[in-house]
Amino acid sequence: MGLTRKSFIRWVLGTGAAMACPFPLRAEDGAGMPSAASKKLGGEAFSACHALRDGTLPAFPAPSRSVDVAVVGGGSSGYAAAEVLRGTDYLVFEKEPVAGGNAVAETWNGLDYCTGSAWASIFSPEVESLFKRWKLDLLPIKGADAACFEGVWIKDFWDGSPDNPSFEKLPYPEGVKKGFRDFNKAMAGIDIEREKDKLDARPFSDFFKGSPAPLKAYWDAFGPSNWGARTEDTSAYLGLQAARDWGKSTHYTFEGGLGIVTRKVWDSFPEADKKRFVFNATVVSVRREGKGALVTFMDDGKPETVSARSVVMATPKYVTRHIVAGLPKEQSEAMAAMRYAPYGVYNLCFTRKVWGMGYDNWPVGAKHFTDFVQADWVTKGDSGDPKGPQVLTLYAPMDEGERGVLLDDAASLAHAEKAVEELAAAVPGCVDHLAEVRIFRRGHAMPMSIPGWYTRLQPAAGKDFAPVYFAHSDNSGEVSDVAYAALNGIEAAKKALKHI
Ligand SMILES: Cc1cc2nc3c(=O)[nH]c(=O)nc-3n(C[C@H](O)[C@H](O)[C@H](O)COP(=O)(O)OP(=O)(O)OC[C@H]3O[C@@H](n4cnc5c(N)ncnc54)[C@H](O)[C@@H]3O)c2cc1C
Repeated sequence: MGLTRKSFIRWVLGTGAAMACPFPLRAEDGAGMPSAASKKLGGEAFSACHALRDGTLPAFPAPSRSVDVAVVGGGSSGYAAAEVLRGTDYLVFEKEPVAGGNAVAETWNGLDYCTGSAWASIFSPEVESLFKRWKLDLLPIKGADAACFEGVWIKDFWDGSPDNPSFEKLPYPEGVKKGFRDFNKAMAGIDIEREKDKLDARPFSDFFKGSPAPLKAYWDAFGPSNWGARTEDTSAYLGLQAARDWGKSTHYTFEGGLGIVTRKVWDSFPEADKKRFVFNATVVSVRREGKGALVTFMDDGKPETVSARSVVMATPKYVTRHIVAGLPKEQSEAMAAMRYAPYGVYNLCFTRKVWGMGYDNWPVGAKHFTDFVQADWVTKGDSGDPKGPQVLTLYAPMDEGERGVLLDDAASLAHAEKAVEELAAAVPGCVDHLAEVRIFRRGHAMPMSIPGWYTRLQPAAGKDFAPVYFAHSDNSGEVSDVAYAALNGIEAAKKALKHI
């Protein structure tokens, strides 16, 4: 099915795809971040990362400034760390012109939408107290995911139970429906917590042997979107928990996704603390010296060094490993074994409402995206002004081998175009109201919850390396998540403070 209005649709291709680092693109529409700071240090964010990778950096100068704590990375983990550090002499180095990392919101036509992180599902007393402290009242998402099989949409599709009534609506023969029920029955018999170590060593795909193909196809879309990996590359410990629990637990978000968390937290920072964020500053080296460390970052193409009494690394481990000098072999190898999926996010801006069935929607079998969320579902749900504008966010996680698509503008556009065609097939008529497509590309965005992730890789990769302490969402937790990112930042910042 071709696009009938292709020539009238505005395709906005964000810059910054072609990098080895995750990169939130186009933030000028209202992320509420400091545009003045964005010009302060200048320089292209990814070129410094590439120079680091390729070993072509200039010599590092002597320190020009001393601080108590240096935080590297200003995503959810980095700004949570910063909050703990208030009142001390700290700096946060962020290679992009905005804070937020994979959780940045933007606005189109008065509608907020996410360019990455969408909803929160992981709660613990610590997470709740964190959101309370940040005065964040996330809204419950009523109406779980909808899924489409062979053109048939089923509302509230997955509830994790063997007698899920949705399975009866599947457009398949009884044998296939039974396969769906049998999978949930078998899963209910597994004590996931007790078997944690064994399950974390196995791929989730082991549990689909003999299952119907559409069941595996569903999880081969769900996994890449939520934790970067298909069933073959997913730790069974996580996969089984997701299949059992995610349909049952309530999810929460803002209109516009979790990028709104970044926006609100940033807005709540006192001016004095905002000034402690150094934007467009790519850290290229952290090396221990005496009881502290030297931190070198690129300032407009030139290296600058600060000395810090301790350091919080709130960057993904694939970057961290290149930056922190002298890591023990086992730790460096664990970081190297961690994998990160490339990710396209396509925000489709419609002049009128085209969708209202569910928050997160899965056209199973689509090849160029996995799911799409309705940006204003928590405020408008399936009602709202039918003539009002709407933004649907399409998630397009890719296999690692496809990363090259994001390095090439034409290939990126072609990929997004095919995703729009697939959406047009699943939501007939929607393309007639499509005004703009905003494309975001991140090269290594999503930590993949591969077998061994939880029990083997994370514990080895995140070991304290005083005075350097490790944060980021990949540091602990079964899945990369804004809440884990923040908690890991807080934990590392506390250690950094204790050190000084
Ligand atoms: C498309 C997508 C959808 C997602 N959906 C959800 C969801 O629905 N719910 C959920 O909870 N989570 C979701 N996540 C995951 C969530 O966004 C992340 O877990 C979280 O944002 C990670 O925060 P972080 O601070 O640990 O890392 P990041 O967001 O990766 O932040 C790291 C920061 O470090 C910076 N940096 C990197 N290298 C350097 C350097 N050398 N020097 C200085 N700075 C550097 C980066 O620019 C970035 O700002 C999603 C992620 C993606 C990509």
